[in-house]
Amino acid sequence: MSADLDHALQLDADDPLASFRDRFVLPGPETVYLNGNSLGCLPRDALERLDEVVKGEWGTGLSRSWGSNWGELPLRIGDLLATGVLGAGAGDVVATDSTTIGLYKLAWAALDARPGRDVIVADVHDFPTDRYVLEGLAAARGAEIRWISSDPVEGPSVGDVESALGGDVALVCVSHVGYRSGAILDAAAVVGLAHEGGAMVLLDLSHSVGVLEIGLSDLGADLAVGCTYKYLSGGPGAPAFLYVRPDLQEELQQPIWGWWGRRDSMAMGQGYERADGISGYLGGSPAIIGLAVAEAGVRVVAEAGPAALRRKSVALTEFAKSCFGAYLVPVGFRFGSPWPWERRGSHVSFRHADGRELVQRLLKAGVVVDFRDPDSIRFGLAPLTTRFVDVYEGCRRLAELASET
Ligand SMILES: *Cc1c(COP(=O)(O)O)cnc(C)c1O
Repeated sequence: MSADLDHALQLDADDPLASFRDRFVLPGPETVYLNGNSLGCLPRDALERLDEVVKGEWGTGLSRSWGSNWGELPLRIGDLLATGVLGAGAGDVVATDSTTIGLYKLAWAALDARPGRDVIVADVHDFPTDRYVLEGLAAARGAEIRWISSDPVEGPSVGDVESALGGDVALVCVSHVGYRSGAILDAAAVVGLAHEGGAMVLLDLSHSVGVLEIGLSDLGADLAVGCTYKYLSGGPGAPAFLYVRPDLQEELQQPIWGWWGRRDSMAMGQGYERADGISGYLGGSPAIIGLAVAEAGVRVVAEAGPAALRRKSVALTEFAKSCFGAYLVPVGFRFGSPWPWERRGSHVSFRHADGRELVQRLLKAGVVVDFRDPDSIRFGLAPLTTRFVDVYEGCRRLAELASET
């Protein structure tokens, strides 16, 4: 594929999702934003919704607004995510807490569900909060973590997971798409193996939601969590979501027994009785402003739909690969993501010994990307807001800077 500007412009002109850019507030033309995998752009509908929920519902409606639809938000957004984005059923997902808290709640429940097994399998290259939460959980429960040393570019292989499994494993907790290299896990195979060995699987979908056709129900994973502020454009620190496979929702029990997760919560009765279904995974009062804003982002993503998002995402990362070959290889870069598109999520990493310093200079030049240790510059390509010319510009400017060193 040609990596020149004309080709980038042509790809933008032919992009069936191009009009979605108008639905977002975007930085000015001096900025090339390639960090939508870290913080997604602001949807215009979110601005409008923010005004409504703050001025109208909070300012004027005050406590009466709890009686309108505030209380429905966690399940309503959960249903929209499940049916419009994740490929799961209504009632399988709820929007609540942060990803960190969701991981803790669900991993705890999984350990309880496998008495006599005290090992959690996790990856040394997984996102930090995932690793730390599991460490804390293991310390609290006298459990042990069996670390997989995955290939930093290719991510955990099915073989890696297989060799970590055993009769003592309660849970395998892994990311669907790796935060550094963007490698896609063969989740269906991992779930199959783990289940054969009697273990549960908790998937972190933070970097796959909004860019892959996840088909969550078909994957058969027991549990999942994910973040809404990356490709879902839910806003900084927006509430996360959690998924519990429907046949497990009654069997499992999460550890934070709050009033919002109690049956008939407004009766305020004695003793905790877990609410039916996914509501039983709620804790305390939902973060209404954050949820209301996040819903706008989820709506736009659901409207575009996973199939079209995946097509655009693949086209973007393939074009980035062409630009890598044309501009970055000659100035000493190596590709830090899996090469075949089937194995890649929606960001690509370019590796360079001076990566950290180059990112600082790139930021000064108006190209927003980020750096991940030890040497990876990540280009996050958000299907609804990133143009092919942005990829072209980012690679050209990076190549120029690197040629000056
Ligand atoms: C972004 C991300 C998180 C974020 O967790 P927070 O609780 O929102 O800080 C967690 N796990 C993965 C894999 C992520 O990519």
